[in-house]
Amino acid sequence: MALIVQKYGGTSVGSVDRIQAVAQRVFQTAKAGNSVVVVVSAMGKTTDSLVKLAKEISGNPSRREMDMLLSTGEQVSIALLSMALQELGQPAVSLTGAQVGIVTEAEHTRARILHIKTDRLQQHLQKGEVVVVAGFQGISSSNYLEITTLGRGGSDTSAVALAAALQADYCEIYTDVPGILTADPRLVPDAQLMAEISCDEMLELASLGAKVLHPRAVEIARNYGVPLVVRSSWTDDPGTRVTSPVLRTRSLEDLEIAKPVDYVEFDTDQAKVALLRVPDQPGVAASLFGEIAHQDIDVDLIVQSIHEGNTNDIAFTVSQSLLKRSEAVSEAFVQRGYNPALNDSSSAPETIVDREIAKVSIAGAGMIGRPGVAAMMFATLASAGVNIQMIATSEIKVSCVVAERDCDRALKSLCQAFDIHVSPVRLKPAPNESVVRGVALDINQARLAIRHVPDRPGMAAKLFGLLARENISVDTIIQSQRCHIVDGVPTRDLACTVAQADAQHARQVLAAEAAKLGFSDVSVDEAIAKVSVVGAGMEGHPGAAAKMFKALAQHQINIQMITTSEIKISCVVDRSQGITALQAIHQAFGLAGSEKIEVPA
Ligand code: ASP
Ligand code: MG
Repeated sequence: MALIVQKYGGTSVGSVDRIQAVAQRVFQTAKAGNSVVVVVSAMGKTTDSLVKLAKEISGNPSRREMDMLLSTGEQVSIALLSMALQELGQPAVSLTGAQVGIVTEAEHTRARILHIKTDRLQQHLQKGEVVVVAGFQGISSSNYLEITTLGRGGSDTSAVALAAALQADYCEIYTDVPGILTADPRLVPDAQLMAEISCDEMLELASLGAKVLHPRAVEIARNYGVPLVVRSSWTDDPGTRVTSPVLRTRSLEDLEIAKPVDYVEFDTDQAKVALLRVPDQPGVAASLFGEIAHQDIDVDLIVQSIHEGNTNDIAFTVSQSLLKRSEAVSEAFVQRGYNPALNDSSSAPETIVDREIAKVSIAGAGMIGRPGVAAMMFATLASAGVNIQMIATSEIKVSCVVAERDCDRALKSLCQAFDIHVSPVRLKPAPNESVVRGVALDINQARLAIRHVPDRPGMAAKLFGLLARENISVDTIIQSQRCHIVDGVPTRDLACTVAQADAQHARQVLAAEAAKLGFSDVSVDEAIAKVSVVGAGMEGHPGAAAKMFKALAQHQINIQMITTSEIKISCVVDRSQGITALQAIHQAFGLAGSEKIEVPA
């Protein structure tokens, strides 16, 4: 029969009754002839209470002692669950992370898994025992044996890593919600359960899904092709399947730290259309992309950066064969008087096109929360002498538009820098795939606007290198189309979003270098929200962007920035409109349903 890893979260083992209910479920699974490894979290809010205790003793407790303290929570639940199984007549044994041999880095409180020994697990399984493993913890062996933890929420990561190491048939994450929903049900009451989502989509929805499933767990599932299910501990409902592509086999050494980038991709069949100085007001992007969709033109990248005065630039790419039609639509759009009281022609809107471009991208689940990956891409392009014309990012992808003649050089240097030896396989979505899976809102970000950055190779590399050195993780990066001539030097604006907690620090770090790097200033806006739609089926289906922009326009929501990847469109809007924006796009894509999903408060 099958080898199954089951993980039960804190609420699922929050009381004696619940532990007994979990034991029943595990017992049934084992009785059906399966080998079962169970991973558990600490009971209920134990970890929170332990953190609170520590804070009462010290404002800044040592990270080693925090690990010593927090790892006790899981040790309680593994022992109790094993006893409950034994009471049912099911042979079971509890093991700590160290006893299993979950070997991690020596980074206390945020260790990543390097390797998992499976021999002891296999021995117990062969004897017909259920093995109950403490989640969230491991052991580092650099000098002495030290107990480490993986970071809050890390039991999911333990479970999926164990499933990968054991080559389990599947991994089930049991939790107190029925699965992954199309939006956060506290903000969008008519959110529905998804039957299925891919790991890539799940990662792009990080701000939606992270509470249910630790992104590091999704990363491992994706990298090792672990079949994953998220389902409720209280029912027999099937929950949500989190699917991964079938990948080449990957070494189980350095499990979590192997490579931040899996693919280098390129597309030379691209052309760029840029609309300069269109009005910065609700509805502009909606009507432009509405007309484009109406012509059945499938757009690829869309980038709109920070505005200037009361106008904005919007740039997008399409495949070469669609350029003529795209240009015609854009020209007509610009002509048709989206031209507020501007009188001199230098400030009138205009369309420019460029055929000689290529898109180069790096993609990989490992770049989430790892500062410096984008900076390394920019630095690599700079040292190859490649100028970046446009930048667009999502959680697991950074795309740059460059001159077509630079494409080969760019690819060669990127493959070298990120140690990529195989040519990328582009995974095409299945034709029946639903266009949009889910929507997410992120209100924990602030925007940095970096004005008048000289337009030459190496500038993005320097700026984002500065932030990476300070360990500041950058979320969205957008480089605008507009070019200003400052003292005879062509310049462009760059904008990015970072966690609010990092924003002022990031501004100071950048501002200190303004004079040296030759840009004019950097400012912070904290009153922003990012709304995103995600779905692998958007590729090849014209109109998703138009639908999103239209939903925002109908609510008079101005779009401040746009960035896209093949499977994601994100817009930055005013913070006060974030929830309305989220609800509007959820509705527009028909994700709302009538089924009442019960979720605990
Ligand atoms: N007990 C740990 C926490 O509360 C790990 C987990 O539950 O995933 O963060
Ligand atoms: Mg959790």
